[in-house]
Amino acid sequence: MFTSPVLEWPSLPRIRVRNTLGNRVEYFEPLEPGIVRMYTCGPTVYDYSHLGHARTYIAFDAIKRYLVLRGYDVIHVQNITDIDDKIINKARESGRDWREITELYSNDYFEMLKKLRIHIDIHPRVTEHINDIIEFIQGLIDKGYAYIAPSGSVYFDVDKYEGYGELSGRFSPEEWRQEEDVLREKKHPYDFALWKAWKPGEPYWEAPWGRGRPGWHIECSVMSSKYLGPQFDIHGGGQDLVFPHHENERAQSEAFFGKKPWVKYWLHTGYLLISGEKMSKSLGNIVIFREAEKKWGALTLRLWLLSAHYRAQLDYNEESLIQARNNLRRINSAYEDLTKILRESSPGGRLGEKELRTVQEVLQLYTDFHNAMSNDFNTAEALAAILRLTRIINRDIVPNEYYTAASFALRLLKEFNTVFDVIEEKPVTRADAELEQLINIIVKVRSDLRARRDYQLADWIRAELSRLGIKLYDYPGGKTVWRIERE
Ligand code: AMP
Ligand code: ZN
Repeated sequence: MFTSPVLEWPSLPRIRVRNTLGNRVEYFEPLEPGIVRMYTCGPTVYDYSHLGHARTYIAFDAIKRYLVLRGYDVIHVQNITDIDDKIINKARESGRDWREITELYSNDYFEMLKKLRIHIDIHPRVTEHINDIIEFIQGLIDKGYAYIAPSGSVYFDVDKYEGYGELSGRFSPEEWRQEEDVLREKKHPYDFALWKAWKPGEPYWEAPWGRGRPGWHIECSVMSSKYLGPQFDIHGGGQDLVFPHHENERAQSEAFFGKKPWVKYWLHTGYLLISGEKMSKSLGNIVIFREAEKKWGALTLRLWLLSAHYRAQLDYNEESLIQARNNLRRINSAYEDLTKILRESSPGGRLGEKELRTVQEVLQLYTDFHNAMSNDFNTAEALAAILRLTRIINRDIVPNEYYTAASFALRLLKEFNTVFDVIEEKPVTRADAELEQLINIIVKVRSDLRARRDYQLADWIRAELSRLGIKLYDYPGGKTVWRIERE
């Protein structure tokens, strides 16, 4: 009996995430079906953004995009810390106003996001939420979770909150010490500042318990809940933020709202390393994004940063960047080849056996891609599946001009690009279309010359086209494919 194989897009696996809270892999189910609310800790704007920042922001951008691809409406908030000790120190050292500093470096940060194609929905700044912060701190004082020290600083009373240390897995108070410079006025060495009393020469705001400015941790509790509500789905940041920053955020938020969990899934990125050390301003080993972008281009950087799983450490080195640059070319030319096939040829009546096999291979890669992304957003394995796809495109689809296989492959490449966003879409103008036809004519003439064994003239045509950036690739069986490959 004749049975025809059924071609259909495979069903997609459920998404699983590794939750830092409990250090477990869990199925992803947002609090409200269909909607994902996520918050990530953004930069303290006192210096140029570096590749370590880019690493973390891109990781969450890819996570957000994959959730969008899977049909969720995602609201993504990322804050800007525009008042902090580091900013005040930088202003003092450089003799500039602190607002001038934050303006300069937040613009640099926005420029980086734009170049890297990172979209954030809401970008709240601390200095625009001081009243909300004061209200929140007042609420914690009223509920007995915070106390006012004689200096006018306000501290969170860690002993009053049950569950401190669960996020970071630090269960003994000996491991909680922080903010050593104010040990004298705290009840316990592990209490942390919600409000820092004013010192001469520092910016300040008036609060019921005295003038001063917010501590670092409180801003994220306040601004996340302001835009996402008292409970939300994903909270992210670099690994360095687990303790004390996120531990403190969690404590004060669950204390304030009286609801658990404040955040359902805690996700943390691995470090970008340079010579085995974390890239960071304090170690003096940063590679500023602006400089790296001039050398490598934003899309190579984007692809490179996504070439490792977000939780893994990623090492900065030239070889891996060169590899990313080659992969970027490979992916872009595969995309162009597919769109050209779909533009120039038309669907055949019946799928040959070879093309059918190619389509099935593409469907397998579609499954591989989604399995990888659904498995805690494994961009490294997802990219590997797409590189295998480019091999199939080059080996089978292009030389045979398989229309149906090309359309399956293009859909997969587009889904990949929804997450990775590294394809440079070039609009095809009328002039481009005419140029394409012209090149097709020349290539056809050359193929005829080769068939007649006039290799001299055929080679001359190939060399001249190459000089113009039009590269010809001859496949066994006589088929020639051309690509425009300008440096
Ligand atoms: P900062 O401006 O240092 O507060 O950092 C802003 C964000 O970038 C935080 O989520 C950090 O964890 C993250 N970050 C900073 N340096 C690195 C690095 N080398 N690798 C990965 N993430 C980093
Ligand atoms: Zn934060």
